[in-house]
Order: sequence, then structure tokens, then C-alpha cells
Amino acid sequence: MALPKRKHSISRTRKKLTHNKLIAPQLVECKECRKLKPTHMVCPFCGYYAGREIVKIELKEKNKEQK
Ligand SMILES: [Zn+2]
Repeated sequence: MALPKRKHSISRTRKKLTHNKLIAPQLVECKECRKLKPTHMVCPFCGYYAGREIVKIELKEKNKEQK
């Protein structure tokens, strides 16, 4: 099995690990229900995208959100 010839420096390891991090999702306000939703996705609360209803959300789910 191939083995590395030299030890990785701490600097090199840390430079590699700096890309290994969590990034917070980018959220925008939904134009229909004014709640925060991920960009370029149908709103999970009202089912609207670009001013049109794409997915019909059932009434039970809507009642839970109002509470
Ligand atoms: Zn919405």
C-alpha cells in the first residue's frame, strides 16, 4: 500500500480542515406568508413559489402553524 513520504504539517492539516465546516442555510422571507424559507425552494409553510401555489398544504398542517 502506498504511504505518504512525509508527515503533514499542522498548518497543512488545518488548511485542509478549514473547508470542513457547517454553513448556515440562506433564508429569505416568503412573499405570501412572510415566514423565512430557503432560497429557490417552494415555501414549506404555504406551498407557494414565484407567486403561484405549487404544492397544496393540508388544512391540519396550517392549523398547527397558527398555534
Ligand atoms: Zn410561504
